[in-house]
Amino acid sequence: MPAVARALIDLDALRHNFALARGCAPESRIMAVIKADGYGHGLLPVAHALATAEAFALARPEEALQLRAAGLRQRLVLLGTLLDRELLRECAREDVDVVVHDDHSAAQVTQFEAEAGVGLNLWLKVDTGMHRLGLSPQQLRPLHARLATLPWVRSIGHMSHLACAEWEDPAPTLRQLRCMEAARGDLQAPLSLANSAGLIAHPQSHGDWVRPGIMLYGDNPVADRFPLDLRPVMHLSAPVLAVRDLPAGAAVGYGETWRCQRPTRLATIGIGYGDGYPRHAPNGTPVSLGGRRAALAGRVSMDSITVDVTDCPGVVVGMEAELWGARVPVAEVAALAGTISYALLTGVTRRVPRVYRGGTPGADGSAGIRRD
Ligand SMILES: *Cc1c(COP(=O)(O)O)cnc(C)c1O
Repeated sequence: MPAVARALIDLDALRHNFALARGCAPESRIMAVIKADGYGHGLLPVAHALATAEAFALARPEEALQLRAAGLRQRLVLLGTLLDRELLRECAREDVDVVVHDDHSAAQVTQFEAEAGVGLNLWLKVDTGMHRLGLSPQQLRPLHARLATLPWVRSIGHMSHLACAEWEDPAPTLRQLRCMEAARGDLQAPLSLANSAGLIAHPQSHGDWVRPGIMLYGDNPVADRFPLDLRPVMHLSAPVLAVRDLPAGAAVGYGETWRCQRPTRLATIGIGYGDGYPRHAPNGTPVSLGGRRAALAGRVSMDSITVDVTDCPGVVVGMEAELWGARVPVAEVAALAGTISYALLTGVTRRVPRVYRGGTPGADGSAGIRRD
């Protein structure tokens, strides 16, 4: 019986979800998005388990370098990063693709002087409507033409990011696709547009490379309209620390925000916001105990939560509760807490050990992963 909160990471589920992504976009190559420590699941185990991805996308240079240091040979793409001379040298040396998204990053690439034999693989990111990062559509063609003449530029792809791909209304996505098409004109370059929602809901967005993130970890952002058999990868659990019986009228937790409406059996569970359980999860948020759903009662503390288990017979100290995973979808907890699954998964803190299951190496001979 584990004595602390832990996150069991089911790498077979991850591989299953990856296969579904492949099935949804069979004509495209997959750039698996494993930024933010593999959405909180562990960078290296996730990368090893997804050894058949054609590329990995990352948000921070140290993540890309860590993958290279671990011997990963896949193509790596550094999404949005402030490029400087030193970083470009490092990326060139380690064969990490970089994204040019504005005049500053274009200038850095232009001023880059190749060391003998090392070049840069570039992705030109166009702002087709999200207005976060990206070149203006008018900049794409002239900049592409200019960068293509630089001897140290080895390849150029085009990318953009979809702002509303999970909406039922396809209009904003179609507008973005048309904008990209117009920006490219007859210019030929590998194209990448689709996040998970685009991949699942908008086949027109697939292009040459799809960039699934959240769906690999088991959450479907368009589940209501496009059900898929995605499996949860992270199973967050914690032990029951104490069980007590309280009379009707007793208040529970900081600020007395919950009061027993009846004689109540209350379980205290060893997980809190210090572990990444959302501080704003309201009373009634489901917690699974012994295969049944119990309800959060009272405020979330740093190291523990309290749960009404009156209707869950057999709850004893040491028993394991599931906060999210197979029985309580992480998206459900997120919705109740006013956030999204991405934030909960990436927010699981360092003190929660990740324990790995499955992920048998593929036929490509990629290294298996170490287990705790
Ligand atoms: C995070 C990210 C993705 C993945 O998005 P999901 O919604 O998790 O599939 C794709 N592209 C870019 C540029 C991103 O930043």
